[in-house]
Amino acid sequence: MPSQRQIHVGDVPIGGGAPVAVQTMTKTETADLSATMAQIRRVAEAGADIVRVAVPREQDAEALRTIVRDSPIPVIADIHFNHTLALKALDAGAHCVRLNPGNIGGPEKVAEVTRRATELGTPLRVGVNSGSLPKHLRQLEYDNPVEALVTAAVETVELMESLDFTNFKVSMKSTSVPNTIAANRLLSQRIPYPLHLGVTEAGTKWSGSLKSAVGLGTLLADGIGDTIRISLSTFHAEEEVKVAWEILKALKLRERGPVLIACPTCGRLQFDMDSVVAEVERRLEAYEDPIEVSVLGCAVNGIGEARHADFGITGAKDMGMIYSRGEPLKKVRTEDLVDELFAEIDKYYAAGKQVVRDERAAAEAQEWLAENEDATAMTPERMAAMEAEAAGEENPGIMRRVERLDESQSPVAGRRFTRA
Ligand code: SF4
Repeated sequence: MPSQRQIHVGDVPIGGGAPVAVQTMTKTETADLSATMAQIRRVAEAGADIVRVAVPREQDAEALRTIVRDSPIPVIADIHFNHTLALKALDAGAHCVRLNPGNIGGPEKVAEVTRRATELGTPLRVGVNSGSLPKHLRQLEYDNPVEALVTAAVETVELMESLDFTNFKVSMKSTSVPNTIAANRLLSQRIPYPLHLGVTEAGTKWSGSLKSAVGLGTLLADGIGDTIRISLSTFHAEEEVKVAWEILKALKLRERGPVLIACPTCGRLQFDMDSVVAEVERRLEAYEDPIEVSVLGCAVNGIGEARHADFGITGAKDMGMIYSRGEPLKKVRTEDLVDELFAEIDKYYAAGKQVVRDERAAAEAQEWLAENEDATAMTPERMAAMEAEAAGEENPGIMRRVERLDESQSPVAGRRFTRA
């Protein structure tokens, strides 16, 4: 279930069933205004709903006023250890301030910050890190790290409530994926506040994306989590945003831009599909509409597997074919597949989102398909279908569950399915 409470970071609603918000963090020195603003514009263009900037020095707090004024998306100030900087960030107009009450210098200093935040109507993000739990939880951390993390988070929430402050979201950071999943599951049952999800120090683009997809994806599929940040060791913060969107798109929680599907290839492949898929992916970045585009390595399966795709290509050694929504459109040379695919997509938009079909070209493509299709070939797709059928016969309950999770359904009950 999504969180019961909702807060607003600038104009972005967080929690209470609002779309899961995509966050990232700038990697520049915040006071370097031109570098920071350039990165903020890049992440906003990539689809970040909210951006966080580190505020470790006075000059960063001073720069915040300009950043908040010029940023196209709401700005969160990230503060550690120094409550004076938190007050300055609030005064500079930050749309939210992130701090860990445990490292800000005691409850009086937290109270000063909450008083100012209340006066300004600014929300806070409060949280705990697995690496810096309070001393009294050290033994529990040793015995049961998940319970220790959740206890620390609940104590933080109780502190905020005791200060009559409820305009906040909560995050619990751990480098362990299983602990992140288990702790957030528990915490979501214990508190009504929005949850920010992330796997801290997840790693490089490759391993960090996978860890985040597993950890955050598991929680999001359960309906847990209201904002997400993918932490990757790259200077290019927009890469974090792209990964976050792929996770949300895969779960059908939000839509943004085209969806590319591609077969995994096998020994039937007769052309350089790696390059074709990379080129299709690159050129699709120019489109905002959530069209689905499919790339199949061969035509032995026909195009049944890709019948949902708005457009698709299937290749062979010399010739290939373009299709749309399960119907052949035209036969083309393999080397022209990508150009011709985008020509068809552009025609579709020029015609007001109507597929433009030339019947002669479509008949030729149909003929080519009939020659290349092989209903008897034991392809990976057919084996998967047979396995699924066999599993269903052994356990009809599984099949019913799979059917329920069909494509028309968001896996998350009670949350709005939205387009960016
Ligand atoms: S049989 Fe399937 S996996 Fe193999 S190349 Fe053809 S479409 Fe791709």
